[in-house]
Amino acid sequence: MRILVVEDDVNLSRQLSEALKDAGYVVDQAFNGEEGHYLGDTEPYDAIILDIGLPEMDGITVLEKWRADGKGMPVLLLTARDRWSDKVAGIDAGADDYVAKPFHVEEVLARIRALIRRAAGHASADIVCGPVRLDTKGSKATVNGEALKLTSHEYRLLSYLMHHMGEVVSRTELVEHMYDQDFDRDSNTIEVFVGRLRKKIGVDLIETVRGLGYRMQAPVNGK
Ligand code: CA
Repeated sequence: MRILVVEDDVNLSRQLSEALKDAGYVVDQAFNGEEGHYLGDTEPYDAIILDIGLPEMDGITVLEKWRADGKGMPVLLLTARDRWSDKVAGIDAGADDYVAKPFHVEEVLARIRALIRRAAGHASADIVCGPVRLDTKGSKATVNGEALKLTSHEYRLLSYLMHHMGEVVSRTELVEHMYDQDFDRDSNTIEVFVGRLRKKIGVDLIETVRGLGYRMQAPVNGK
């Protein structure tokens, strides 16, 4: 899962990015509205954290432009405390949620998890596929109740596939959601990660759809 943080306060941006990375996300950062708008317009993010008070272009304008262009990714706004008018303007502009500053990073993480889950159609914090259970809160997974030991890449891969259960996900899409913009991306490595993940899960839940990508789904007979 890939997140964009648009925040001009360098320290706050770093704090958010580190917490998000620790939670297993890939993070890109933008420090002004123009840059943030451009990245949100051109890169596929699973969620965006957007500050309202930004240089170059304010957060509300950035959000309005994305929505006017048909961009539907979940957006969490960072608002100044007690500025109720900002919250109203933000929600009217198409924000999915907001957090008032100063906030606890844990609250931002919880709201981001919920936004990403809901965008993928999952209401609960745990996503289940046959014997595999993904704990989005703890950033971990189990198979038949046994903990899966996953690298950060493997976790991201599993998380993306499970959030999009039943859908065919292309390698390109996986690369775009597993690496940040500066990473030297190679879609061939995805095959390697899928192979390792299959081996660790031990049950064949990830189907290769020839020429298209991968699809993860629970076996129809429930086994
Ligand atoms: Ca700001």
